[in-house]
Amino acid sequence: MVLHELGAKINEAFRKLSKESDIDEKVLDAILKDICTALLTSDVNVMRVRELRDNVKKSVNIEELGATANKKRVIEKVVFEELCNLVDPGVQAWQPKKGKFNVIMTVGLQGSGKTTTCTKLASFYHRKGWKIGLVCADTFRAGAFDQLKQNATKAHIPYYGSYNEADPVQIAREGVEKFKQEKFEIVIVDTSGRHKQESQLFDEMTQISNSIDPDNVIFVMDGTIGQSAEAQATAFKDAVNVGSVVLTKMDGHAKGGGAISAVAATKSPIIFIGTGEHVHDIEKFSARPFISKMLG
Ligand code: GDP
Repeated sequence: MVLHELGAKINEAFRKLSKESDIDEKVLDAILKDICTALLTSDVNVMRVRELRDNVKKSVNIEELGATANKKRVIEKVVFEELCNLVDPGVQAWQPKKGKFNVIMTVGLQGSGKTTTCTKLASFYHRKGWKIGLVCADTFRAGAFDQLKQNATKAHIPYYGSYNEADPVQIAREGVEKFKQEKFEIVIVDTSGRHKQESQLFDEMTQISNSIDPDNVIFVMDGTIGQSAEAQATAFKDAVNVGSVVLTKMDGHAKGGGAISAVAATKSPIIFIGTGEHVHDIEKFSARPFISKMLG
């Protein structure tokens, strides 16, 4: 079930409430069941769904709410808040600081949209007036540097990379150093998303992170990956100090629920969502407007 369908299903449950002349525990349980089923169908992690249901049950004391209209209002409000909590771990998102050299490192699996996202982010900050550069520290995938170079050139973003150097740690370090010396304000380092073995990928990420000491590690995750999202997000969070998340491919037919609930588990805020292949297809993420929009 894609996100707007999820919103429609939840609204349908709310409408059921309106039809009831008396809302008791049984009615509440029935609409919670509808809401939980819709969330599960959208790939929201089963633990998060259970938490949501338990929290709503804890917050809503039917006996004390008086009139039916009031009961309905309170239930809707509590469910709305819990849906917001699902996508908002309550952690302040990192922001680049003026007057400082800000180092961002991106991590994520190959195909997640990491390289595309790097240019989108660079372009976003560039348009806001930041002096920003890109570094390609992916030496595993042939063509990675060319892709970043092409994207960066189109978006008028200075870039750094190498066709000869095979050590991504060295390229990352050199690129960061170069932009620092040239008094840039932000540098974004794109890393590899694949290796012969997964453990090598995580080792490499750790080495790059230790070498460039990023102010923020952004985990880029494909928003369409469903229930496997939780395990993937946790693996990245365990390997490097993930500070924030970008969910890509949230356009089209993304279910999104899996990725969204994975983010809750890693306690890192979603900062942007990718909504297309074009460099401007990126939106700042805020929990409340996102949930309001989903509910229509
Ligand atoms: P990487 O391997 O993680 O660096 O992934 P790429 O940046 O090369 O992206 C993989 C594919 O996903 C490309 O075809 C991108 O155009 C596409 N892509 C990336 N972000 C988005 C997005 O937000 N929406 C859509 N529809 N496609 C995206």
